[in-house]
Amino acid sequence: MLLFAIIYYAVNGVFFSFFNFLFGINGRKNSSKRVDFTKSMLTLMMWMLSFSLISLLPEFGFQPAFLSDIYSFWTIAIILIAFILIDFLEYWIHLFFHKSPFLWKFHRVHHESFELNWSKALRLSVVESFGTSLFINLFLFILFGKEKLILLVILFGSKRFYGFFLHSNTDVAYGKAVLYFSSPRFHHWHHATLTQNPLNLSTLFPIWDKIFGTYYGEGSEIPRIYGIRNSEDKLSQNGKTIQVI
Ligand SMILES: [Zn+2]
Ligand SMILES: [Zn+2]
Repeated sequence: MLLFAIIYYAVNGVFFSFFNFLFGINGRKNSSKRVDFTKSMLTLMMWMLSFSLISLLPEFGFQPAFLSDIYSFWTIAIILIAFILIDFLEYWIHLFFHKSPFLWKFHRVHHESFELNWSKALRLSVVESFGTSLFINLFLFILFGKEKLILLVILFGSKRFYGFFLHSNTDVAYGKAVLYFSSPRFHHWHHATLTQNPLNLSTLFPIWDKIFGTYYGEGSEIPRIYGIRNSEDKLSQNGKTIQVI
């Protein structure tokens, strides 16, 4: 498990270092080099542990017969619906992690950093990384059964890779399309806004923020500072005026 985590981390590290070299924000390219290795390893181990625990569960065997063929229209349709549903559930889990004083103690780890790069997607507390992945893997297991679990975990794992891109040191904005699909600049603002009244909480589909009133969007530029922000924040830091939302 540890070896797999190291290889996975190293491959992503090489890819995003190159990505940062090509597309990194001018003046911030060094920030990509400061990665959270230990916390990232723990997160990867927790993801694998949650998958291993769920795979040990006995098959419930109440999945409908039409789901037995992975390539059938209905299986693909239900996988797509599950993809959207999981993003919706993740929005609410994320909101609870901000709003509940108890859960915030764990989620604040993700917000403590003053800079963003791909590895900050893995900067999570053990409670958050293990708890949320256990919940999602259990959801997939109940819906699709044990046989397809590995395939689905890989499929849904692609979302994790997109999460690395969202945190990467790059200013990619989608303009009006960001209402339908999140961009790095959209998520960068999540790390720059007030943490007790969070904005831009969605992972993939910002429409959840729009519906539930937590949408900020991409703003007119990339945020200048990141970290834990509350309403007592001063409006200037190091002589620069900063925006507090
Ligand atoms: Zn958050
Ligand atoms: Zn984040």
